[in-house]
Amino acid sequence: MGETTRVQAPAEAVAEFLPVLAHRPAGLFSDFDGTLSPLAASPEQAIMHPRARGALVRLLAQVDEVGIITGRAALTAEAMVGIDGIDYVGNHGLEWRRHGQHVEHPESVASAGDVSATMTEIKQRVAGTVADDGLLFEDKRLSGSIHYREAKHPERVRDPLFAVASEVANAHGLVITEGRKIVEIRPKLVVNKGTALQRLIKERGLRGVLFFGDDVTDLDGFRMLHDMRREGLQALTVGVASPEAPSEIYQLSDIVLGSVDDLADALERLADALETTPAGTNPHG
Ligand SMILES: [Mg+2]
Repeated sequence: MGETTRVQAPAEAVAEFLPVLAHRPAGLFSDFDGTLSPLAASPEQAIMHPRARGALVRLLAQVDEVGIITGRAALTAEAMVGIDGIDYVGNHGLEWRRHGQHVEHPESVASAGDVSATMTEIKQRVAGTVADDGLLFEDKRLSGSIHYREAKHPERVRDPLFAVASEVANAHGLVITEGRKIVEIRPKLVVNKGTALQRLIKERGLRGVLFFGDDVTDLDGFRMLHDMRREGLQALTVGVASPEAPSEIYQLSDIVLGSVDDLADALERLADALETTPAGTNPHG
């Protein structure tokens, strides 16, 4: 498979990151689960990779903007990452937190009741069926997640769960999206990790951007950066390989790293390099 041959070593990746970040102001943004944190059996068991966390703290002093763009609630992401001064974009772009200031997308606030009702109805509809296997319902208010990572037979759960979830979500005027052993219920809005990145780039006037991700919803971000490159933005999309990664991760990543460990390693090396040669003075810039 071409996928494995394309995986790059962290040091090689960093050599490509540096010239992009030399375009100031520069931003470094990342997904959380499966990217900065190894996937755990249940979402509350996930822990941020300690070396990735240490590196992000250092990078905050070197890169103009640092942020987490996640499907989790922004408050949850903030609690799990625990770094002050970075952006926490939660619920796939529906809510934003920075320095404790919280902003929510008004239309998504209006559909929060529908998200809750949809989750309850899906739970009732799948009870006792083949899809009722280790499901974990996570109501994040502005969107909802149903995890089936802990199912005994996750491969049997996916199709029937997806069918029920789409029908119920549709009836409530919501849409569903899919990720690694997860079905998500979201408002019918063109708000995603791509629009979140676009907003960050435009509002802050960013000229060089890195974005890291591992899953389907990160692809919206990858596509947006590819589009914005045509308008002159310097950007790289960086995928984290895994046996569960959708094939588009390999197609739409400029750089593929082999694991969460390798990404943590790359971030540490990037911090080392920037502390030695600050981004604005990079000779490649
Ligand atoms: Mg992820």
